[in-house]
Amino acid sequence: MIKRIKGLEKSSLRLEPNAREREILFRIVNDYAEGFLNNLQTLPAYKFTEGQGIGIYDSPVSEEGSNIENLLEILKNNVDTPGLNPASRGHLGYIPGGGIYHSALGDFLAAVTNRYAGVFFASPGAVRMENMMVNWMSEIIGYPASAGGNLTSGGSVANLVGILAARDSADLKAKNFERSVIYMTDQAHHSIKKAIRIVGLGECVQRFIPVDKGWRMRSELLEASINKDIKDGLNPFLIIASAGTTDTGAVDPLDMIGEIASNHKIWFHLDAAYGGFFVLADSAKAILKGIDRPDSIIMDPHKGLFLPYGSGAVLVKEKSNLLKSNHYKANYMQDATVSNDELAPGDLSPELSKHFRGLRMWLPLKLLGAAPFRDSLEEKLLLARYFYEKLSEIKGFEMGQYPDLSVVTFRYIPPQGDVNEFNKRLVNEIQRDERLFLSSTTLEGKFIIRLAVLSFRTHLDTIDETIGIIKEKLALIL
Ligand SMILES: *Cc1c(COP(=O)(O)O)cnc(C)c1O
Repeated sequence: MIKRIKGLEKSSLRLEPNAREREILFRIVNDYAEGFLNNLQTLPAYKFTEGQGIGIYDSPVSEEGSNIENLLEILKNNVDTPGLNPASRGHLGYIPGGGIYHSALGDFLAAVTNRYAGVFFASPGAVRMENMMVNWMSEIIGYPASAGGNLTSGGSVANLVGILAARDSADLKAKNFERSVIYMTDQAHHSIKKAIRIVGLGECVQRFIPVDKGWRMRSELLEASINKDIKDGLNPFLIIASAGTTDTGAVDPLDMIGEIASNHKIWFHLDAAYGGFFVLADSAKAILKGIDRPDSIIMDPHKGLFLPYGSGAVLVKEKSNLLKSNHYKANYMQDATVSNDELAPGDLSPELSKHFRGLRMWLPLKLLGAAPFRDSLEEKLLLARYFYEKLSEIKGFEMGQYPDLSVVTFRYIPPQGDVNEFNKRLVNEIQRDERLFLSSTTLEGKFIIRLAVLSFRTHLDTIDETIGIIKEKLALIL
């Protein structure tokens, strides 16, 4: 048996490269990363390819390993080439994500040391670091010290956790669902509707409050709807608003909604996945007034803080509400009982073992300070306004509402022919060109093109280039 164990040990030891092997691996991987970053200025924002990454299957997992150069080649051709390039300065579609380099270094360290950030007993420092990030976000939105939260994988899970807290705080039981009411607008992100279903609230009454011309919830109609529901014996228990909708970047009237929610003692959940971090920027302060009013709020560091994908956050004004929904006691966890006020992700979210996400956020914030993040967000707001003004000067464009944040919507009205078909063609031509990526949506049956400025690499030159490319494609298809 000893001989067999020793034989297996020899093979197992290949899982632990020595210092020399690590150095070589690191250098080759670093060269790849440098190649990517140094070419980024000219890499396409979207790449249409024949195989769409299918070549990945040509090299299945087998008993024997391969060399790193071959694997990076497979990665480059099949993963880092086809489709959207979220690292590109020309990514102006959907809601762009981030990918700052300092976070990659944080992830590297988190993976190497592999601290267990789910439980305080296991890694008190990692838990404190994540709580510190949660507290910092609470502070910038103006939450009280009683607030708590969790770093999630993204906005969808953050919405799920927030809506779960709303359900449990209201003590809703299955027998109450059919008479309980949730209010939102039809501009709410689809992850909200998904979360409602997942937490079992699909049978609740869901009211879609009409929006104004700028796609913001009409708070007077919200109030009227609540009053009517109360009169009819229903149980209004949850209002969901948006600070930056995905379609148009619209911000609902947070102060007024907050007032209505607190008057009626209804849980107010705010989806600020896209718009939340704009509280750092002076010129968004007015539009985001009241952002401290919700009972729960979500924001995506992988959007507004320019972190790589895999970073969302949920904040809850009274952290005991999170604990109520998520804490659990297990026999095998008996050494890990909560021994101070430092709550851990394992008690505040559905997760237990998890990526130590705090480090990818703490490292860049501490290294660079908050100022460059604040300034970059302010820059994005101004770039959106600049684009709006520049495009309005070109005859034929019908502009959407003046941007609340950094999304601009527009369409072109051609002298003849179908307007929707024309704009579909226009956005298609822009995408096929590959230098930029703009996306589209449909609002009241109209095909609308949208530009979302949130990549930290998008600056004035890219916006000028965008206007040039739009003009070029117009000339081509007119
Ligand atoms: C991006 C987004 C979400 C979903 O967040 P993910 O991080 O993609 O899961 C939810 N709501 C809004 C408004 C968003 O922009």
